[in-house]
Amino acid sequence: MARPRRLVILGSTGSIGSQVMEVVRRHPGLFRVVGLAANSRFELLARQMAEFRPGLVCVGQGQARGSIARAAAGLRICLAEGGRGLELAAGMPGADMTVNALVGAAGLLPTMAAIRAGRDVALANKESLVAGGELVMRAAGKSGARIIPIDSEHAALHQCLDGRDPRTVRRLILTASGGPFRGRGRSKLLRVTARHAMKHPTWRMGPKITVDSATLMNKGLEVLEARHLFGVPLERIEVVVHPESVIHSMAEFTDGSVLAQLSSPDMRLPIQYALTWPVRRPSLAKPLNFPEIGKLTFHRPDTATFRCLKLAYLAGGIGGSMPAVMNAANEVAVQAFIEGRIGFLRIPEVIVRTMAAVPRTRAATVGDVMAADARARAAARRLLGRVRP
Ligand code: NAD
Ligand code: MG
Repeated sequence: MARPRRLVILGSTGSIGSQVMEVVRRHPGLFRVVGLAANSRFELLARQMAEFRPGLVCVGQGQARGSIARAAAGLRICLAEGGRGLELAAGMPGADMTVNALVGAAGLLPTMAAIRAGRDVALANKESLVAGGELVMRAAGKSGARIIPIDSEHAALHQCLDGRDPRTVRRLILTASGGPFRGRGRSKLLRVTARHAMKHPTWRMGPKITVDSATLMNKGLEVLEARHLFGVPLERIEVVVHPESVIHSMAEFTDGSVLAQLSSPDMRLPIQYALTWPVRRPSLAKPLNFPEIGKLTFHRPDTATFRCLKLAYLAGGIGGSMPAVMNAANEVAVQAFIEGRIGFLRIPEVIVRTMAAVPRTRAATVGDVMAADARARAAARRLLGRVRP
């Protein structure tokens, strides 16, 4: 048997991170976990440390203390902290692949660190591509690092496009479940709370992406993610609502053929695809039962009600720093919604006003992107003080 693939897992205690662990356990001997990073659920992190004995663990700034510090000392694990620690873990010598399952634009610097170290990246953290996609792809081209998406739509497209001539691709069609509020008009969304938004019909995910799925911003972020991953211009990337979440996305070719990837909605499948690619192995996902599914349906997204999808196309069209600005404003607005400080329909309002307040600049370096991100966060927070709840 070949030697195990050595993994660093950033965001190991989150929704994606803990499913990465399930995939690792499913294939004893195939993987070795050499690095972990998390900044929540420290009891779970301590259990992961004892189970996998990684060489390096990173926690948030100021968190390298208490029971985690004692556990690390007892297991002779190096403990790092904060942004520098994340970059260290991401590019850790001796690893083969970095799994980025962090949430938000905070994932950009670790993605860049992994790529610059020539490390293959299994990427769940879509925000790093939204904010700094051109830089990430250029750095990967330079170092030879490969980026294999974990996001289910992009894992589907990766499978549809694998080995095919990019000039023969006419359209990418991303599917969207439509989220918990599909079919509701604006008047029915005035009073919805974070608790309502957390009831996603087909997926169980972390809080930020669950709200993004309810606003359709998740699909907007995914359109921008697809553009960078697959080098297809925005005008040739479309979104279709498909509530059954059986088709995970489709690629149409110049001859009119459409290839789709279908499977039960279970993130452990795209996670495993990224971790074992180009090899396929048995997975934990349940096989599809077509007679039980009965029918698959498709609708146009309601972008008049769910404005975030259009805002993502708009930001992508403006280019430069604007996608980073939009993404940062969304992160601030979603957090305020989760904390009950603003209503659901204020999320796109905060984003659009932030985009108007923070001018587009160039995004030629990671420093440019992070500066735009910081300006947008500050502007969005100022706006939050002013919008009606
Ligand atoms: P989550 O909130 O459940 O988990 C985030 C993880 O990152 C946690 O372990 C948290 O402790 C860690 N983290 C956050 N800040 C950190 C820091 N400063 N230092 C170290 N660790 C830190 O999020 P999630 O739902 O797992 O999503 C992760 C990413 O994957 C997001 O970009 C999301 O859009 C994407 N994604 C998620 C799903 C899903 O099913 N959950 C599907 C597709 C894509
Ligand atoms: Mg997705």
